[in-house]
Amino acid sequence: MTGNHGSEPKKVIIGIDGVPVDLIRDLADRGRMPNVESLLSEGEMSAMRAAIPEISNVNWSSIVTGKNPGEHGIFGFTDLIKGTYTINFPDRRALKASPFWEDEERRYVILNVPAMYPAPEINGIFVSGFVSPQLGKAVSPDSTLNVLEKMDYQVDVDSEKAHKSKRLFLDQLFETLEKREKAYKHFWEEKWDVFMLVFTGSDRLEHFLFDAYIDEEHEYHERFVEYFEEVDRIIGDIVDRLGEDDELVMLSDHGMELIKENVNLNKVLEDEGILKTGNKPSERYRNIREGTKAFVLDPGRVYLNKKDKYPRGKVGKDEEEVFLDEIMDVFEELVCDGEKVIEEVHRKDEIYFGEEVERAPDLVLTPASGYNLKGSMRYEDVFEQNVFKGKHTLNDAFLYSKNSDLPEEPKVEDVRNLIDD
Ligand SMILES: [Zn+2]
Repeated sequence: MTGNHGSEPKKVIIGIDGVPVDLIRDLADRGRMPNVESLLSEGEMSAMRAAIPEISNVNWSSIVTGKNPGEHGIFGFTDLIKGTYTINFPDRRALKASPFWEDEERRYVILNVPAMYPAPEINGIFVSGFVSPQLGKAVSPDSTLNVLEKMDYQVDVDSEKAHKSKRLFLDQLFETLEKREKAYKHFWEEKWDVFMLVFTGSDRLEHFLFDAYIDEEHEYHERFVEYFEEVDRIIGDIVDRLGEDDELVMLSDHGMELIKENVNLNKVLEDEGILKTGNKPSERYRNIREGTKAFVLDPGRVYLNKKDKYPRGKVGKDEEEVFLDEIMDVFEELVCDGEKVIEEVHRKDEIYFGEEVERAPDLVLTPASGYNLKGSMRYEDVFEQNVFKGKHTLNDAFLYSKNSDLPEEPKVEDVRNLIDD
């Protein structure tokens, strides 16, 4: 244990965004993540179930609050402004439950947790993760900004790069990781009881190059694995700084798999006459026209176009059940090359509880393996291919603890208990 820390055991939480349990086991088994390999022999690791939908901001909100989306109120990267078809992007200020760092009994360093912008004032240091439009608002206290600017800290990679050049994108991923390492080393010297660090480049890397992981002949396979070797090296460095009794928790927020097809769910609804849009293709939900019964927001969130909720609402209270049944049938029957596309259609009351359920989507679809659900309003066909290779998965995030027993079949809401213990 380093000298400036007290005698109470410390707690370190390392997040690796979007890493499936099989990937981390595989790279540990192949000797490419040797530090993780030795941690696995000491502690316990399990697959973990993500929140529904399995989107990073929903999951990290559940991880840090210990609550389900019906309580913390974050259901996806996007939401509609009340009473309109205008999209907004909920950030930390939309969170309706308390993250663990609100307990002022302990001191914290919190580095790069997604969806926690702007940075809250806490007992310690806070640096927000993606999405953070301005670094100045992503840090607390203000004096932290100077430190980060000096190291040319980057919250996230510029994914636009990946559309142009995979090589430049990879270079930037490694560069961002290097800055993250510098930042963690700097803040390690602060006084703290709980230190949380999240790697987020992993999710970016997998979205664009999951095929490079699967295919060992792929020109970027080695680079892909090298990224995880770097993460492993930093994990090893952190472990070396821990005392015997200090607790280490590692986790991801969701898993990842190869995309077979992207699925434009609003096109499905339009083909069935359930969604009516203007003629011009547009990303805007304002394009929704009279007569629309339902529409979808990313990734598979179905909203009834209720009369009392939306400007061109159609669905009255007494019609809701009939329309929900109709829409459930449509999605349950959706096939691609004879294969079922939607594994399950959830009604909101089946998967969520709490005061925010009223704002939840009426239905949430979970896809069969390989189908990447989309709620875009800009589409040509139901099924399409694009630049992305990897998509999130629900059942195979991972959870590791060095010293504590894990719950049976853990889910993201359970992580909070390990942090609070
Ligand atoms: Zn992702």
